[in-house]
Amino acid sequence: MDPHTQIDHAICYGIENKMKALPEVILRTAGVRAVERGHPWIYKDAVARAPDLDHGEVVLVGDDKKKVGVGLYDSESPLAVRVWSPDPHVAPSRLLQGRLDECVRIRAEIFDKQTNAFRVAHGEGDRVPGIVIDRYDDVCVVKPDGRAAEALVRDHVEVLVRALAPLGMKTLVLRLREQEAITLYGPPAAKAIRVMEHGVPFVVDVLSGQKTGAFLDQRENRRRVGDLVREKGGRGVTVLNLFSYAGGFSIHAARAGAVTTSVDVAAAAHKTAMDSFRVADLDPKGHAFATADAFAFLDRAATEKKSWDIVISDPPSFAPNAKSLPRAISAYRKLHAACVRVLAKGGIFCAASCSSHVDATAFASTLDDQALGRSDLRLRESFGPPPDHPTLAAWPEGRYLKFFVMR
Ligand code: SAH
Repeated sequence: MDPHTQIDHAICYGIENKMKALPEVILRTAGVRAVERGHPWIYKDAVARAPDLDHGEVVLVGDDKKKVGVGLYDSESPLAVRVWSPDPHVAPSRLLQGRLDECVRIRAEIFDKQTNAFRVAHGEGDRVPGIVIDRYDDVCVVKPDGRAAEALVRDHVEVLVRALAPLGMKTLVLRLREQEAITLYGPPAAKAIRVMEHGVPFVVDVLSGQKTGAFLDQRENRRRVGDLVREKGGRGVTVLNLFSYAGGFSIHAARAGAVTTSVDVAAAAHKTAMDSFRVADLDPKGHAFATADAFAFLDRAATEKKSWDIVISDPPSFAPNAKSLPRAISAYRKLHAACVRVLAKGGIFCAASCSSHVDATAFASTLDDQALGRSDLRLRESFGPPPDHPTLAAWPEGRYLKFFVMR
């Protein structure tokens, strides 16, 4: 059945209280318990019985006796259902407007005028499963995860436009995986959008940049790096920013007086980074941008006996699934050893991880004395996700971001 029709069915049945017509996905006991605690994901493995369903269908979930929630089904994903509500009488499409209004209201509490680039809707963590929306000044970018969320977004563009209007949104862009950006509403977005993060300007490429254009989750940590440079005396402090993407950490560091070296395999990212340096009143010529594999760069730097006062490491996820966890841990240990080899005496090492399968305790283990090959560093600060990336208590998978400061 067409997902749209199914959703409308759900609304009608909700009102008429004839929920029986909705397909029922019967879960194993552990799945029922998890949904009751507020976990929004039902893996295929947790499903005991389900009728033949298409993606995007509204389904009731529970056991044979009781239904514990309503969600959207995805026939292709290992995540069979994303749960929207414990109330089986209300369809996700009905909840969308209210949930997004709440997201926008919360962001008004978090941010002042110094920041106009932030995550407006953080999927599961904001109780809009699979729907991520980032705001870059007057452009919003929606990135649905999975076909069910994509269908919901495409069928309810007017709901998104209404909810995002208080942010002054003029253009709504849809980003799907690596495909081109699609304009859903308003005039096409400019290739380079100028935004501000804690008063520091930078440019974002929402049309072809990674994710929605920027990694907004590191905003608070980028600011912290600026402060760390100031703590070390500001002018002339040397900073090595590994996996630098569009240079966010480097810009905050450079504004505080640092001389930065940004390393990324993606040459296009350096172009955006240099543009950002210019809008932030910094001359990129005074800084280094290396297009290189970070591991190879570190090996070479160690051979050449180079060192930096602050080293930042923010690699892409090393653990795409639980099975790859041991390999990821060993990769982090190797990377961290290589990072501290080029850390100047008395230096600061900032290590980040965005692998959701590596929790904070496991990540700390990749920074132990044996991993680093030295016993003089302390774990002085540890940060998790920022407030515009909320998580649910029952959903540890959402707390993927770790940022540890060793000195
Ligand atoms: N620190 C950035 C975000 C980093 S995302 C910020 O604050 O915005 C991870 C980056 O690592 C991507 O830009 C990707 O191009 C880069 N990357 C992936 N593998 C790499 C490798 N082996 N060496 C260097 N860079 C790499």
